[in-house]
Amino acid sequence: MVKIHFLGTCSGTEPIAGMHHCSLVFEIGGTYYWFDAGESCAYTAHTSGMDIMKTEALFVSHPHIDHIGGMPNLFSCMNKLIKRYGMELQNGNSLEIFLPDRDILDAVIKISTLKGRMHFTLNEHQIRDGVIFEDKNLRVTAQHNCHISTTELNSFSFLIEAEGKKIVFSGDVRSPYELDPLIGAGVDVLIMETGHHKVIDVCEYAAARGVEKLYFNHHGREIIDDRPAAESLTAEFAKTYNMPIVICHDGMIAEI
Ligand SMILES: [Zn+2]
Repeated sequence: MVKIHFLGTCSGTEPIAGMHHCSLVFEIGGTYYWFDAGESCAYTAHTSGMDIMKTEALFVSHPHIDHIGGMPNLFSCMNKLIKRYGMELQNGNSLEIFLPDRDILDAVIKISTLKGRMHFTLNEHQIRDGVIFEDKNLRVTAQHNCHISTTELNSFSFLIEAEGKKIVFSGDVRSPYELDPLIGAGVDVLIMETGHHKVIDVCEYAAARGVEKLYFNHHGREIIDDRPAAESLTAEFAKTYNMPIVICHDGMIAEI
């Protein structure tokens, strides 16, 4: 079974009560794989009882504040747990980190005040299109999108294959159609950002692509301002098209 911990489900808005910026953690076979690290992700994970030292890898969709604002604290938190409590990251005190842009890590290390004081190793990988990671638990395929630029490859969506399931995490996209290469003939789950799209447009796209179950994440104004209306719209659509739709909230755990 794949457990997905939704640590933050908000897009890059001003602070919204009960919501934090985008971060989700896949838990498979007792190991954590993080996708994006928005504000407060380490705080939320640690204080909710997750053992962040079980983390094997972090994948960053793109270098915007609502997706990486929590990275300095995440690394700082890991460092403190190692130094103060003698804990260890499970993979030989090293962490695989996949980034679309090499400049990010230097800045994060600098503001984490970890330069020269790190008690674990960061193995940095540049994200490219295609399979970027594979271990006994999952395989991750990246596909660039045009959220940031039409020329530079600095924003990505991911296909995560685990436990016989295909799960697509959109990251942020300019158009849902940019997910076509990852979705192919259909997927079990699409975790889709709605910060830049109308809810109904995403529903129609997912139903036409053979998505089995749709999770809304990275909420924009349509859901933030009137969640009951969005829930009633998605409930109606789900019934008509026989495609379950979940509007995620912070702290939610999905079992797939
Ligand atoms: Zn975003």
